[in-house]
Amino acid sequence: MMPLPKFHLERPQSLAAALRLLAESPDALPLAGGTDLLVSMKQGLYAPGTVVDLKKVPELGSLEIGAGGAFLGAALKLAAVRDEPALKERYAALSEAAAAVASPNIQNMGTLGGNVCLDTRCWYFNQSEFWRHSKGYCLKKDGDICQAAPGAKRCFAVFSSDTAPALIALGARAQVASWDGESAQLREFPLEELYREDGISRIALGQDELLVGLRLPESRGVKSGYLKYRKRGAIDYPLASVAVALRMADGVMKDVRIVLGALASAPVIAFEAMELLEGAQPSPELLTRAAELVGKRTCPVKNQAGTPAHRKSIARVYCQRLLTGLAK
Ligand SMILES: Cc1cc2nc3c(=O)[nH]c(=O)nc-3n(C[C@H](O)[C@H](O)[C@H](O)COP(=O)(O)OP(=O)(O)OC[C@H]3O[C@@H](n4cnc5c(N)ncnc54)[C@H](O)[C@@H]3O)c2cc1C
Repeated sequence: MMPLPKFHLERPQSLAAALRLLAESPDALPLAGGTDLLVSMKQGLYAPGTVVDLKKVPELGSLEIGAGGAFLGAALKLAAVRDEPALKERYAALSEAAAAVASPNIQNMGTLGGNVCLDTRCWYFNQSEFWRHSKGYCLKKDGDICQAAPGAKRCFAVFSSDTAPALIALGARAQVASWDGESAQLREFPLEELYREDGISRIALGQDELLVGLRLPESRGVKSGYLKYRKRGAIDYPLASVAVALRMADGVMKDVRIVLGALASAPVIAFEAMELLEGAQPSPELLTRAAELVGKRTCPVKNQAGTPAHRKSIARVYCQRLLTGLAK
């Protein structure tokens, strides 16, 4: 059994109180459902002096779906996102991604915000202290070399969130709150800007900042889908995933968005393929060419199950499948 390290628990009742606690405790970490963070703490990967539990922060729990779009609070459970009929109808890729996270019991506990802010993963990092000690530590924790890509100057741990690629494909914006010493300040930006291609400093959030929620634009007839490749269908992180969103207008594809997950330290937007498809009539040859471009968009290293080449080829196949289904 791996015990949790000792920590001080805070349960703030408002966003302002949560931000103030984070700002005042440099070694504090926010906790949502805890399905990722508590496991990592048991493995000795993190030892925050203070844990700021977000469950009682009302500002993080909203769910608004209207004609102009949707706002999903960071504390929404993945099961609620998965089951909401209006989300299924207008933002199918997001519902499909939420339904693909781990297993139903983790979807009941885990939150959308925790999934979007998920830590990066690697064979050489997500292990017990005993395992990491015997193997030799890595760049991300306690060591000075990357075990997955020896000689590399940065960490190649993989961002394995299921919902983030789907949200980015759907044009989501992140709403983030920070503490200015007196009150909470809100700002919004495209979700893709939250991520960094670096397995260690994976998200662009300061110590005194929290993700408040995700804003989705009006769906305007956009069709979308999400496909995930994993070893065990019942419960597993993605080894490669693809989210696609597009709409058909007068026989041509518009607003095409293709985003890859679990193939790099951040979600990857397949710009070349999107450009090729934008405004074009779908044909099997064109969709094949687009999928080939998607396959060339990433260069994963061997730090997950399966070979990097296999994971890339899965992304190509899944992209073609999604495009073929959506561009009818
Ligand atoms: C066996 C197993 C299988 C899993 N499989 C998958 C999978 O297939 N796909 C997948 O995507 N995930 C998977 N997970 C990871 C995890 O369960 C989910 O990603 C879940 O959505 C995390 O949400 P949470 O609320 O539990 O996050 P937490 O564990 O509470 O937090 C996760 C991280 O986000 C930070 N955080 C949380 N909320 C906020 C906020 N509002 N603002 C800023 N930072 C915040 C925390 O500090 C922490 O670093 C798996 C976990 C386990 C144990």
